[in-house]
Amino acid sequence: LSELLEHEQDLPSTTQDGHEMPLMVNTGLAVDATTLLKSRIAGVGLYRTEVPFMITERFPGEKEQMRMYREQLEGFAPLPVVMRTLDIGGDKDLPYFPIEEANPFLGWRGMRVTLDHPEVLMVQLRAMLKASHGLNNLYVLFPMITNVEEVDEALKLLDRAIIELGEEGITIKRPKVGVMIEVPATIYQMDALAKRVDFFSVGSNDLTQYLLAVDRNNPRVSSLYDALHPALLGALQELSLDARRLNKPISLCGELAGDPAGALLLMAMGFTALSMNAPSLPKVRAAIRRVTLHDAKALLAEIMCMDTPTQVHEHLNKRMDEWQ
Ligand code: PEP
Ligand code: MG
Repeated sequence: LSELLEHEQDLPSTTQDGHEMPLMVNTGLAVDATTLLKSRIAGVGLYRTEVPFMITERFPGEKEQMRMYREQLEGFAPLPVVMRTLDIGGDKDLPYFPIEEANPFLGWRGMRVTLDHPEVLMVQLRAMLKASHGLNNLYVLFPMITNVEEVDEALKLLDRAIIELGEEGITIKRPKVGVMIEVPATIYQMDALAKRVDFFSVGSNDLTQYLLAVDRNNPRVSSLYDALHPALLGALQELSLDARRLNKPISLCGELAGDPAGALLLMAMGFTALSMNAPSLPKVRAAIRRVTLHDAKALLAEIMCMDTPTQVHEHLNKRMDEWQ
């Protein structure tokens, strides 16, 4: 089956009634852009910068980071590359920057760390900006945002980096900036966030764990960890409607985007792009190409009436079998 689907990789991710659903890819380590570009993608929806940081022995310097980022940006140009600033803490520790806490997922994570260490963030932002010089396909994404003051502070540092580079003779215009929607508090701050940023990216992996209060890595509660829980689906639908009302693109870059049934529901909700690990591209593309947007919307309407995660899964499995 997967070999069959491979043949569709250069075909558009368009439904039978002509709705295009841009598919993007998540990256981390140096990627073989040439291979990925054989499949028709709309760019990199999430480059997890902490991944290369995990295999070095210390914080990589500006030059070293610039080289890594340039490789990504150049490899995919002119397609957009969404680079997320360092998202460490939680389950992602750097050996040379240990963080020990009783509740790491509720603690010093993502932007909370980098705003406390602006010297680390500044090096990273400068490296990203320098790497984008002449390419103009850099998008910057801030992780683990809880309130808008964090966004204001991060933007101030971004602007400072742009001014610094200008003084050094490198003129760079401010890239488009987005925030991760992964802390439930952000669901209720979409208007305030939209005043500050250009796009939203939903991190369904963390949003699931925080909305359901279920550790995403604890096997004891893994049966409760479910991105298709009716509460999640309600939140996702609301987010997508908010983004549309605010006239901002909204993509989703968690595992849910790489699940064919999940992808159809997100498309029906109005998400403007889906970003996933490369191996999920063929099956998601195939699912989209086999339905109409009308079918997907009808499915979403049925699913939104369900009370339990079990009902959601049973109904989705039934429909997905019919659409094989
Ligand atoms: C997410 O939280 O859904 C996400 C995409 O980011 P990460 O898995 O790196 O936390
Ligand atoms: Mg996350």
